[in-house]
Amino acid sequence: MNVQQMLQAIADDEDKVVNALCEMLKIKAVGPENGGTGEGERGDFLLSLAKQLGFDDVELYESEDPRVPSGRRPNIVIRVKGSADTTIWVVTHMDIVPEGDLSAWNSPPYEPKVMDGRVYARGAEDNGQDLIASLYGLAAIVRAGVTPECNIGLAFVSDEEYGNTHGIDFLLNKGIFKKDDLIVVPDHGYADGSAIAVVEKSVAWIRVVVVGRQTHGSTPDNGINAFEVSARFLADCMDQLRAKFSKSDELFDPPQSTFVPSKCEANGPNINTVPGRQEFACDFRVLPDYDVEDIMSLMKAVAGEHEKTTGAKIELSFLDRSVSAGKTSPDAEVVKRLRRAITAVGGFDAKPIGIGGATCANPFRREGLDAVAWSTIPGTGHDANEYVEISGLMFDAKVYAVMFAGANIGGG
Ligand SMILES: [Zn+2]
Repeated sequence: MNVQQMLQAIADDEDKVVNALCEMLKIKAVGPENGGTGEGERGDFLLSLAKQLGFDDVELYESEDPRVPSGRRPNIVIRVKGSADTTIWVVTHMDIVPEGDLSAWNSPPYEPKVMDGRVYARGAEDNGQDLIASLYGLAAIVRAGVTPECNIGLAFVSDEEYGNTHGIDFLLNKGIFKKDDLIVVPDHGYADGSAIAVVEKSVAWIRVVVVGRQTHGSTPDNGINAFEVSARFLADCMDQLRAKFSKSDELFDPPQSTFVPSKCEANGPNINTVPGRQEFACDFRVLPDYDVEDIMSLMKAVAGEHEKTTGAKIELSFLDRSVSAGKTSPDAEVVKRLRRAITAVGGFDAKPIGIGGATCANPFRREGLDAVAWSTIPGTGHDANEYVEISGLMFDAKVYAVMFAGANIGGG
């Protein structure tokens, strides 16, 4: 069998692949933080599907979690032996976020709908498509009798949407991933599959509370206007942050760190009161060169000056933060192999990029592993009417098959 024949074999399987995705998406897999019962049932479905597809090395790693009915969160690891010792992993997650506002959906989120070359359902993109694509990509080469160039591991994990404790971190602690392993996490992507994310910015969400003193709107000198203090502090802060943390890196789009004041809370119902309290929040995405603690320190220093001149109190706290674990080299083996496979299947070159959001490639990079985020997705995850293109599903399955086979399959 050569590459072209294998790609054709996968294309011939399209109905089966789409059907497997739909069957899986019928099973709700929401974590307990979001009021769900976890991934147990979906895990059982995938275990039997893996068996049906002929995989014999399938292991179940369960993390104890008393909050779900079964008391356990499943993690499934499928392995196929290759001719080299390194393992290439595709790590996808079984859990999904809830459907959100049901009235915004055109069809029921847990009754997958195939229409106009798309599959609509909650979890279709995040992370259903590439879980199924990796499974059928691997099944295709095994069925064709092709030995993968490296060992291949597929990990279907739990708990990605809330902290990774019972999923990726649990498997990392169990020592499942080895030092030289190569990791692909289909947790980010462009609609044309042309972007391989090798680094991400750190994310810091910061809450600001300004406490002044409320008074009548006609006698502002009797109070301290928390709204006006906020405005002056914010303007000063943004200027100083952008001036001090001004590096740029062309891997990213936009290349600089971004400092965005975003959410502002209401400060009172009426116009004729000087507000005594103002609360707002900021969304900062900073290059990995910077420490988010240094950003907080600068904000605190600026706040101190404004407190001194106004008599207001300015309280700052992190609402959330995700510290970037640095970069996987754009020349790393995992980038090269994936890029080659994308070119072989799609006839174009995918570029290594940096992204502004946190992905679950980060925990792997923190452990010193080379990890990239890639997939071919429309960007509908977490939305109402979440969908994937069947063409993207099939493209990714083919890319995985070619990447897994590597040099052990001829062209033609
Ligand atoms: Zn998600």
